[in-house]
Amino acid sequence: MKTYDFLIIGAGSAGCSAAYFLNKEGKSVAIIDREGIAGGASGAAGAFLSPLPGQKNPYNSLVNDALNFSLPIYEKLLPQAVDKRGVLRVANSNFDEDKLSQNSIKYDYFESEKLHSISKNFRDIEGYFYENAAVIEPIQICNKLIEGCDFYKIDVEKLIFENGLYMLENIRAKNVILSQGVGTSLVEIPYMKIAPIFGLRIDVKTTTKVPFNVHKSISISTNKQDGTISIGATHERHENEKIECLTTCDKCSFYVNSEDEQIKTLLSQADELMKLDDLKVVKIYKGARATIKSYFPVIGQAVDYTSTLKKHPSIKNGTKIPPESLDYFVNLHVINALGSRGFVFGPYLAKILTQNILYSEPIPQEISTLKLFYKMARKS
Ligand SMILES: Cc1cc2nc3c(=O)[nH]c(=O)nc-3n(C[C@H](O)[C@H](O)[C@H](O)COP(=O)(O)OP(=O)(O)OC[C@H]3O[C@@H](n4cnc5c(N)ncnc54)[C@H](O)[C@@H]3O)c2cc1C
Repeated sequence: MKTYDFLIIGAGSAGCSAAYFLNKEGKSVAIIDREGIAGGASGAAGAFLSPLPGQKNPYNSLVNDALNFSLPIYEKLLPQAVDKRGVLRVANSNFDEDKLSQNSIKYDYFESEKLHSISKNFRDIEGYFYENAAVIEPIQICNKLIEGCDFYKIDVEKLIFENGLYMLENIRAKNVILSQGVGTSLVEIPYMKIAPIFGLRIDVKTTTKVPFNVHKSISISTNKQDGTISIGATHERHENEKIECLTTCDKCSFYVNSEDEQIKTLLSQADELMKLDDLKVVKIYKGARATIKSYFPVIGQAVDYTSTLKKHPSIKNGTKIPPESLDYFVNLHVINALGSRGFVFGPYLAKILTQNILYSEPIPQEISTLKLFYKMARKS
C-alpha cells in the first residue's frame, strides 16, 4: 500500500504535464492510464506546435501564450525530441491572407520563387513563415515528463473516497486530478460537455527533404530523426451518431471503415503543398481529441453540480453565489478539453492548475471550471 499526494488519471499531455509540475514541487505522484503512457490522443498527435495568427482575441492570445511557455519547456526537457524549424502557413478558406498577416506575431512572406529556391519540390504555393513553431515526439515527451512519478496501468472504473483519501487498488492519495481526455468522467461534471473530434495522422518515408513544417488544412512535418515525416491530421465529428469511446481508435469500427479514405485525403492535401518523392506510408495513428463547444480548454476544481444546486436553488434565477459557497468534489481537479492543441496547452495549463492547487493562484475565468458551472446552472 502506498499513499501519494496526488493521483492523476490519464497519462496524456494534460496528465503528464500536471505530474511534471507537481513532482518539481516535491509532491509524490501516481499517474494511471488504462492504455499506457500517451495511449490516447496524445500518442496520435502530429505533434505540431504553431502560433495562431490573426488579430488578437482571447483564444489566440491563450494559444500564443501557451506556445511561448510550453515549447521552451520541451526544448529544455528533451531537446532531441523537439525539432524547431518553423512553419510555413498557406492561406485557406478558414485562414485567409488577412488573418495570416494581421497580427503581432513576426513573420516572413515567402513567394513561390523563394520556396522553389529552397526546394524544387514545393508546388506553386506561397505563404507566411513563422519562426516559433516545432514538431515534437509526443510519446517520448510524455514519458520524460513523468520521470520521478510512479506509473500504473489500470482501467479505473470508480473513484472511492473514504476517510479523507482516494483509494484505488493498493494506491491511496489525498488529491485527484482527472485528465481523461474523451474518456467518460469518473465524477459527474455535466457542465463540461466533452465532444470527441476523431482524427488520423500518418508517418511516411520519402526521399524529399522538407525544410520546415508546412500547414494549410493539414500539416506536413520536417524530416524527423528516423527520416520519416508526419502528415496530419483529419478531423471527423460524429454529429449524428452518439459514439462513446469504449475502445481505442485502433479497434473502432469507424476507422476500420474509413481508414483508406482518410489516408487518401491526407496524401492528396499534402501533394497540393509539396511533391514527396518515393513516398511510402509506414505508420498510421488514430485518436480522439476532447473539445467543448467554445474550444477553450478547462481546468480547476470540480464543482459538484447536483449538490450545489440542491443547496442553492436560487442560483438558477440569477442569485449570485460566490465560488467559496459552492460544493466541490473533495480535492478533485480536472484538466481537459485541450482540443487540437494538446501539446501547446499541456504544460501551460498544468502550471496554472498546479499553482492554483498548491498556492491558490487564480485561474483565468475563460478556462475555469467555474465559468462552465455558472453558465449551466443559470440556464437550468
Ligand atoms: C490525429 C491527431 C492529431 C493531433 N495533432 C496535434 C498536433 O499536431 N498538435 C497538438 O498540440 N495536438 C494535436 N492533437 C491533439 C492532442 O493530441 C490532444 O489535445 C492531447 O493529446 C490531449 O491530451 P489529454 O491528455 O487531454 O488526452 P489524452 O491524450 O487522450 O489522454 C487521456 C488519457 O486518459 C486515459 N483514461 C481515460 N479514462 C480513463 C480511466 N477511467 N482509467 C484509466 N485511464 C483513463 C486514456 O486512456 C488516455 O490515455 C492531435 C490529436 C489527434 C487525435
